Amino acid sequence: MADFLTVNNLCKEYEGRRALHKVSLSLQQGDFLSLFGPNGAGKSTLLRIIATLISPSSGQVEIKGFDLQEEPEAFKRQLGVISHQSLLYGHMTARENLLFYGALYKVEDPQQRADELLRVVELYPRRHSRVSRFSRGMCQRLSIARALVNDPSLLLLDEPFSGLDQYAAAILTRQLDELRTRARTVIMVTHSLDRGLAAAGKVGILAGGRLLYLEDRDTIDPAAFEGLYLEHVHGARAA
Ligand code: ADP
Ligand code: MG
Repeated sequence: MADFLTVNNLCKEYEGRRALHKVSLSLQQGDFLSLFGPNGAGKSTLLRIIATLISPSSGQVEIKGFDLQEEPEAFKRQLGVISHQSLLYGHMTARENLLFYGALYKVEDPQQRADELLRVVELYPRRHSRVSRFSRGMCQRLSIARALVNDPSLLLLDEPFSGLDQYAAAILTRQLDELRTRARTVIMVTHSLDRGLAAAGKVGILAGGRLLYLEDRDTIDPAAFEGLYLEHVHGARAA
């Protein structure tokens, strides 16, 4: 089976300082990769490159055979991104935000999709309110809807639970389960070993800009993995 996502020898330097070094990985459609690593490891850099928010210094990324640099439009249509940035417009209503992204992604029936997602994140009654009036939790929920507007075949999650209130976290967990049942591919960067392992089909560790480890969740011994996690992510030696 052809790979769904291929990352090949990806490197990134910021003003001459190396943030990613020769990162290669491949995922099949429906894989759920939980990626761990210490602060400054390059996790956000990797996700931001795949999300087309920044360019790599060298290397290639392909989704379903679409090359990031050669076919950026087709590449981008596959993507959904959840990070600390909500990517919402305060002067627009909740529904207008989703319609805006729906148009950007050329969603078939943006109105229907917007209403469907507003119900999923339980903001339908507030659909005509401006986002600048929303609480933080409401913005979090709307940004989950925003990321899903194009029914992405690859969802990129950069520490998606940090800062989420319990209500938004429950909605996100439900949506991730739902995506899994439809064989959507997910890369989730997380600091939570428990949450990451519970969700994952594959687990990876990135440290110092290098992918040190990438294995199937089923083949790892949880205790041994916890040792690796402590060693590489927290800089502590396992007992
Ligand atoms: P992580 O998400 O794993 O904490 P990042 O990808 O944010 O790591 O950062 C990797 C390295 O790149 C760090 O040393 C960080 O300081 C550096 N870095 C990240 N973004 C920039 C930037 N825009 N300009 C300069 N250096 C950056
Ligand atoms: Mg980060």
